[in-house]
Amino acid sequence: MICQCGGQLSLKRSDRNGVATLRYAACASCGRCGRWALEVDGRLVSRGETARRVYQDARALEQFIRRARA
Ligand SMILES: [Zn+2]
Repeated sequence: MICQCGGQLSLKRSDRNGVATLRYAACASCGRCGRWALEVDGRLVSRGETARRVYQDARALEQFIRRARA
């Protein structure tokens, strides 16, 4: 995968509480990140900007986890 700047994108992941995982692509050249995907218990629950926002908002993330497990 190639970034808009021409740099190489690498896939990254960040975990929270061993429950929620945010996967994304980061550019080694310009630092731009994108292709956000939020997983709860290994299941995709959100994509894009929403996934990034929810992951960074503890209360919103809690709601997503509750809904995913309902
Ligand atoms: Zn870039």
